Amino acid sequence: MNHSPLHLIGPVMVAAAKKATVPVAVHFDHGLTEEKIREALEIGFSSIMYDGSHHPLEINITETKKMAAIAREYGATVEAEIGQVGGSEDGSVDLEVLITSTEEAKMFAVETKIDALAIAIGNAHGVYKGEPKLRFDRLEEINREVDIPLVLHGGSGISEKDFRTSIHHGIRKINVATSTFHSVINTVNEAAPFKDYFSYHETVIAAAAENVKRHMEMFQSVGRVKEDNVYV
Ligand SMILES: [Zn+2]
Repeated sequence: MNHSPLHLIGPVMVAAAKKATVPVAVHFDHGLTEEKIREALEIGFSSIMYDGSHHPLEINITETKKMAAIAREYGATVEAEIGQVGGSEDGSVDLEVLITSTEEAKMFAVETKIDALAIAIGNAHGVYKGEPKLRFDRLEEINREVDIPLVLHGGSGISEKDFRTSIHHGIRKINVATSTFHSVINTVNEAAPFKDYFSYHETVIAAAAENVKRHMEMFQSVGRVKEDNVYV
């Protein structure tokens, strides 16, 4: 949010979503405080994530329940996290990866009644140091015990094969950001120098869209949506 203040970017995102021709969510990721979560909901975000993964389990449960109740007032869906996904998108925090316990995940989902659960199975935000080694054994176990959709953060740097295995074992939402940033930078560097600002701007947008499309193809989610715009 240092680079894109919520009060400015949020209304733009919601306005764009309302014009979308496929169902989309406007999701507030890694909400840490009630104040910011409420701000996002007031703007019209349809989905929030409360990230209390840094808290001890009991506090994470209590806080997640509180944020979920707030989100419900707005008709928004709720994602929360248990275990600890490493790193951070802008590299400002270097968190260690703590693998989610199956027992805790089960208890957490039942107690909080959230819509989606982000888990830590060796995934990390930002750029991976070395090859990511995902714990598919743990994912399989969590998927057997937890009824709600599972979320994989830190999708940038994970191989197509690992994405497919993750999806096969219950991952239903994958967060990809850093890979799009890299795709934009690489495309812009290759196309530079630009003659004018507008062609530069179009290159940025096309590069981001291209990376999203590439991931939709990898995730086999292309053409799977049948409904009209359902954003509310
Ligand atoms: Zn994340």
